[in-house]
Amino acid sequence: MKCAICRNGMTQEGYTSIVLEREQTTLVFKQIPAQICDNCGEEYISSSVNKALLHRANEELDRGIMLEMIKFATSRKMSNDTASVGASRTTRKPM
Ligand SMILES: [Zn+2]
Repeated sequence: MKCAICRNGMTQEGYTSIVLEREQTTLVFKQIPAQICDNCGEEYISSSVNKALLHRANEELDRGIMLEMIKFATSRKMSNDTASVGASRTTRKPM
């Protein structure tokens, strides 16, 4: 889809990280499936992913932890094309 922020770039399948803070708890979610603008880098997360993320965050908050790194599980909803594009994007790094 076309980026709503810069109106120039197109979004690509990828992964992002999100930090949620509430009171004394900090949750770091890794490997969240997202649409990322190839121009400005704006990240878009689907409402279903966002909902799952908040649900997971509330579970962690109930445990009363202070800091947690969470690898966001995507296997259930991730389609094959998302996996291939996302993997190539995240592993391709200049040496
Ligand atoms: Zn953009």
